[in-house]
Amino acid sequence: MTNSTNINPPSGGTPPTTKTCKECGSIKPVEAFYARKEAKDGYTKLCKDCYYVKYRRPQYEREGYEAVLAVGEYDRTHMEETVERKKRWYAEHKEEAKEKQKDRAALRRYVKS
Ligand SMILES: [Zn+2]
Repeated sequence: MTNSTNINPPSGGTPPTTKTCKECGSIKPVEAFYARKEAKDGYTKLCKDCYYVKYRRPQYEREGYEAVLAVGEYDRTHMEETVERKKRWYAEHKEEAKEKQKDRAALRRYVKS
């Protein structure tokens, strides 16, 4: 049979409760992933742990996965808040943010030429 049946329910069916992390390959509950509106299934491809470790790459390369997770417990659980805070700041300081972007663009042009 060429037409293989899809194991996953079609969109509109029951949302999945678990997800396989692209980085570590573990199957985790969706709560272990960050919500992401742009993503097809509404969650990031990487679990929160992997996201955090990637984010702290220099430390990870020096000290390893477990070490990063151990010290990062607080940051990790508050990362969503930090991102939200940044988003809010941008929304409230649009002009300022635009100016900053312009500065950076100008600097890039300057460096290039
Ligand atoms: Zn992972």
